[in-house]
Amino acid sequence: MTVETETIPLAKPVIGPKEEALVLEVLRSGQLSLGPRLAAFEQAFAARLGVEHAAAVSSGTAGLHLALRAVGVEEGDEVVTSPLSFVASSNAILYERATPVFADIDPVTLNLDVDAAAAAITERTRALLPVHIFGYPADTPALEAHGLPIVEDACEALGAFHADGLPVGGRGHPAVFGFYANKQITTGEGGLIALGDQRHKVRIDSERNQGRAPDMGWLDHDRLGFNYRLSDVACALGIAQLGRLDAMLADRARVADAYRAAFAADPVEDLTLPCEDRGGERRGWFVFVVQLPHRVDRDATIRALAARGIQSKPYLPAIHLMSFYRERFGFREGQFPICEDVAARSIALPFFPAMTEGQVARVVRELRAVLGA
Ligand SMILES: *Cc1c(COP(=O)(O)O)cnc(C)c1O
Repeated sequence: MTVETETIPLAKPVIGPKEEALVLEVLRSGQLSLGPRLAAFEQAFAARLGVEHAAAVSSGTAGLHLALRAVGVEEGDEVVTSPLSFVASSNAILYERATPVFADIDPVTLNLDVDAAAAAITERTRALLPVHIFGYPADTPALEAHGLPIVEDACEALGAFHADGLPVGGRGHPAVFGFYANKQITTGEGGLIALGDQRHKVRIDSERNQGRAPDMGWLDHDRLGFNYRLSDVACALGIAQLGRLDAMLADRARVADAYRAAFAADPVEDLTLPCEDRGGERRGWFVFVVQLPHRVDRDATIRALAARGIQSKPYLPAIHLMSFYRERFGFREGQFPICEDVAARSIALPFFPAMTEGQVARVVRELRAVLGA
């Protein structure tokens, strides 16, 4: 195949000799789980964010579940969150038989609108769960004013910063990161909770490991737990990935700049690009999501791009309009109109650190051709 017809994938991890060496070392050590790489990965991650503690877990979803339990979310509680997210942030609330209460999003940042969130708070609200969607920092500082526990879904936002200079995940609230293969760093599957409260750390460490206390014997358990452990094999991968994080973030920013330049050179009418950083906030680039013009058929666009060797996908659907949520809670169209409009028109374009300027140009050229622009 020539370069021009090779399919450009949506995402692609960067795995090199360092990853191979550290993983091989773990394999040869014979200690594949609960070994020294777990604490080493947690410490390196916590140091990077400037938080006291970190707890590595088996997925971002598992991290959200344990973080919600840690701040005291229980059956019947309400958790205010964003309907424009990956379904895991809301599902984790359901795991505890609590109720996700959605509030609409800000049309520019696509994060939870802080006024809508404030209006959704009731006396049953137990916690707030902002999502830093597409790597753009949610306005957690404004949400802090309510004095409620906050759990941050930072799964898409490694490398992002708030306007006050703190990194996303560095405010001390349990903040959850995800390491699936398309994320800023990957451990294959995996996640981590960054946190400031020692009591949360103790509870999460126990609950990820069947409810075991650190000083307890093998089969003694004093509370309900789960198996949400992350293996040392995965932690070794994570340590290697952290070592190249700055370079990968710089590459992602370079690719985003290339997209912006390509669209700026010949704008597509009514196409909405990811918002620019504003007021000292900094995006940690994760995906390049554009909102198609209202007149365009999104599914046909995705099919036409695929025929031209460009992967893309709807990203993200509105959670409240998923059939499971509609049936369970009676959600319907029109309840969160900004989210619904954005969700109906958004597509993720290929975006990964090794993407070349030539590939970016080809994606933009094909999209323009497909849209007849
Ligand atoms: C990736 C992601 C998660 C967690 O996903 P896992 O596959 O469980 O690691 C949670 N929330 C958001 C917004 C995500 O993008």
